[in-house]
Amino acid sequence: MSAPKPQELLKISHRPPRTGWMDTPVQFRRGTWCYPGKARSLEVLDLPFPRQWSPEDDDWKLPPNWKEIVLEGLRERLHRFRSLQIFMDACVRCGACADKCHFFIGSGDPKNMPVLRAELLRSVYRREFTAAGKLLGRMVGARDLDERVLKEWFYYFFQCTECRRCSVFCPFGIDTAEITIIARELLNLLGLNVDWIATPIANCYRTGNHLGLLPHAFKDMVDFCVEEIQNVTGVGIEPTFNRKGAEILFVAPSGDVFADPGIYTFMGYLMLFHAIGLDYTLSTYASEGGNFGLFTSHEVMKRLNAKIYAEAKRLGVKWIIGGECGHMWRVLHQYMDTMNGPADFLEEPVSPITGTRFENARSTRMVHICEFTADLMKHGRLNLDPSRNDHLVVTFHDSCNPSRAMGLLDEPRYIIRNVCRHFFDMPENTIREYTFCCGSGAGLGPDENLEMRLRGGLPRANAVKYVHEKYGVNTLACICAIDRAALPPLMDYWVPGVGVTGVHELVGNALILPDEDERTTDLRGNPLPQPAGTGDPSGPGVSDLDEPGGPGPRSGPNTAPGREA
Ligand code: SF4
Ligand code: SF4
Repeated sequence: MSAPKPQELLKISHRPPRTGWMDTPVQFRRGTWCYPGKARSLEVLDLPFPRQWSPEDDDWKLPPNWKEIVLEGLRERLHRFRSLQIFMDACVRCGACADKCHFFIGSGDPKNMPVLRAELLRSVYRREFTAAGKLLGRMVGARDLDERVLKEWFYYFFQCTECRRCSVFCPFGIDTAEITIIARELLNLLGLNVDWIATPIANCYRTGNHLGLLPHAFKDMVDFCVEEIQNVTGVGIEPTFNRKGAEILFVAPSGDVFADPGIYTFMGYLMLFHAIGLDYTLSTYASEGGNFGLFTSHEVMKRLNAKIYAEAKRLGVKWIIGGECGHMWRVLHQYMDTMNGPADFLEEPVSPITGTRFENARSTRMVHICEFTADLMKHGRLNLDPSRNDHLVVTFHDSCNPSRAMGLLDEPRYIIRNVCRHFFDMPENTIREYTFCCGSGAGLGPDENLEMRLRGGLPRANAVKYVHEKYGVNTLACICAIDRAALPPLMDYWVPGVGVTGVHELVGNALILPDEDERTTDLRGNPLPQPAGTGDPSGPGVSDLDEPGGPGPRSGPNTAPGREA
């Protein structure tokens, strides 16, 4: 699917329609919605009402009692989730969130304002579940649920990436992402999902990963990464699979195993573990850390997540490390231990290299790879040559879930500062908790939705453009597999000349392995920069940061970081 030229997309009108929002029907314009979930994928998951349908059709082939199903579903969820009840009642429509959503900024569509997105559901809640709404109807912002409303829900709740940026600005802490999650659950009760979500979760259910690849294919791809590492470094690495009795189970998003540029990040993980002699194993059953169930329902999320603890138990590992992923970490950090735990068959994670006890993972028993690596760096346990990344002028995109859903803000920057000499942060209202979404998360990444993705990604791209033009930034680092898939086309469109990398790809470049050959290329096969003295010693720019060091991991002694073992 091709998109309009950037100059066209930049003509964003923020003039509201002439008709009120309740009287402005949704229009399914090509390029701004995702294809519906295939019937066979819904069948694999035993989800209700699998069928062929299209948002463009008048008749969505809804079951005759669809309204009762949705209202009963809403009633049940109001009872089950106190936060939902509060979010339905507490909004005073102050508008503080209105201009904070990247989809509103990039599209100008008022129904992409978080406050109005939530009103799409809240208006039905008022009508059905409040006395004022029952008596006064539209006067108090209440409306009946009908097919027009349902179609609007499908369009706009699949135009929310559940990024939570709006919630940071709400004085009441209303989280529109959670409203979207519930609205999507209600839509799923009628078999209304998008295929970029439904088919990956069906694949995951059948084979353990979103891409549906079988265990031997998973192993083949890891073997391919091992060969590539050997080509670049001369070092042979022998990861193990499904090994009982390993100390640690390592689970990555499958995008890192199968897709470019994620595979370079995966090579970085393998090189790191080899360098420190970690006793770990990969699993061909828990071969996916990502969890598209989060974009479907709590129930599906729980089912997909369960395999990680089940596999950790079967293999008898002590604890788990998880790779660079976005929504994977929202599920792990916010739901996993209560949803599928307690994991009392595992031990509280302790780094076998530094002795650091990861107290923040006491309950999940699962540590983020960035916490693990930052701790190694802080204790001087890695031999690093950051000059190997001198051809890269790097900025860092805080992926929405690790930043806002788990507060992982400093560790990735700390790692980058130890392995790169040219790092520049984007403007502060676009990073850390205020980060802008890539525009393709929460299952909105298919090509048929490209125009909406490019619109939603505009604020992120705009901030990258700023540091690209000011400091010559040519590399956008991130810690999310969806970002690694979504940001390259976004950069090509809005900021050509900026590539995308995972943080552990940068680590892999800088890491000096025992017995390695002299390297001539980085992990992608690009020639390494000239050694100091043969070129411009200042490299492509100067860092906006002082000495490597900084805040370090969230646990462990406060010792000075070292670059060399
Ligand atoms: S900031 Fe909060 S209270 Fe204000 S309109 Fe948005 S959701 Fe409602
Ligand atoms: S969660 Fe993100 S995408 Fe959804 S309304 Fe809020 S800012 Fe927009």
